[in-house]
Amino acid sequence: MPLTGIEIFKLLPKTNCKECGVPTCLAFAMSLAAGKAELTACPHVSDESKEKLQEAAAPPVRLVTIGTGDRALKVGGETVMFRHEKRFENPPGFAMLIKDTMDEAEVNARLERFKLLQYDRVGLILRPEMIAVKNESGDAAKFEALVTRVKQDSDASIILMSENPDILAAGVKACADRKPLIYAATKDNLDKVAVLAKENSCPVAVKASSLEETADLTSKLNTAGINDIVIDSGSRSVRQAFEDQVIIRSSALTKKFKPLGFPTITFPAEMTDDPMKEAVIASMFVAKYAGIIVLSDFQGESLFPLLVERLNIYTDPQRPLATTQGIYEIGGPDENSPVLITTNFSLTFFIVSGEVEASKVPSHLLVMDTEGLSVMTSWAAGKFVADAIGPFVKKSGIMEKVNHKKLVIPGYAAAESGGLEEELPGWEILVGPREGALIPAYLKTWKS
Ligand code: SF4
Repeated sequence: MPLTGIEIFKLLPKTNCKECGVPTCLAFAMSLAAGKAELTACPHVSDESKEKLQEAAAPPVRLVTIGTGDRALKVGGETVMFRHEKRFENPPGFAMLIKDTMDEAEVNARLERFKLLQYDRVGLILRPEMIAVKNESGDAAKFEALVTRVKQDSDASIILMSENPDILAAGVKACADRKPLIYAATKDNLDKVAVLAKENSCPVAVKASSLEETADLTSKLNTAGINDIVIDSGSRSVRQAFEDQVIIRSSALTKKFKPLGFPTITFPAEMTDDPMKEAVIASMFVAKYAGIIVLSDFQGESLFPLLVERLNIYTDPQRPLATTQGIYEIGGPDENSPVLITTNFSLTFFIVSGEVEASKVPSHLLVMDTEGLSVMTSWAAGKFVADAIGPFVKKSGIMEKVNHKKLVIPGYAAAESGGLEEELPGWEILVGPREGALIPAYLKTWKS
């Protein structure tokens, strides 16, 4: 249960020394409770209080890291049931299934798809993160060889799938340095799998046949000293699996039930043979509340929408996607090139910059900070208006880069052209198109 500001205050030194940057310990406590400050900002808090405060601050769904380095996947760490309450923190990982009974051509094709299926969207690279290597052959050597291959030929975070501890050990041997997720500890193999996970410092997933059994297995792993746990409640019908996700999240958040306070792994791949239904089920788990989603394969037509859905669900609803304010030089412009201005809503920026690039007319694009709002919205909100644009243009440094005084403003801000001529004396304000798609034709008529 998170502590209130007053409860936090009782654990602070109460000296009001101001070293944390606020005038009083009470103000600091309130900031901590609101998540606006870090405990490390107070150098005087006692070790005992620190421990209590850190324990209280730990998210009710444990943050678990799978893999290493830049490609490490963090799952869990969630603090709310509904995105609008604050935000969802760590997007679920998408895993592609590769089985050790697949022939070499199929394995090659899947590894190739894993590499190729990535998308550049609004300045972000959208891509899946994981490969689930499943033992179906019953042959430890075959499994180990496939895990080695996946490790060598991809930068994926790896899930090792078997219920046989000896086969899991062969997989761990091949990729222990990549900190794979060991899937799965069950009621029949838990002791051996726990030893394997502990010896190699790997996260481990439990697979149960009910939520009660899940809680029992996670408690046993905790007792064995393992805390990085992922939960598979075992349900494979859509309805039951959905209900389990909701119950697991709400038990952790509202009931503070620690045995279910872990991220989950889900298997749309095992719920249907229809690829389109599988994508729809995966989509449901993106929204509620999977930590990992294992798909039977990756195909662009289903993976791309899932990646976009994930991006949208896991953005901060209180903060629009924004681009950094500044001058963007597109196509190697010179002092005679056009100067256009737009806002820093990411989608606006990428549409406008893409169309300028497509025009093949080298240009300077001024991007103004409108707190991530689009042209129309920021204009209506009074943020993209003449008396804001004028000072920005003057300070931007564009006047040192061009030897003309022409500024192209978006068609939706046409009403600002008169005001801008007053704000920027000597400048000619040109009204560009309303739609990005018309920018190339417009720029082709440019004369400095
Ligand atoms: S640094 Fe610590 S002791 Fe000093 S005012 Fe801030 S909270 Fe209080």
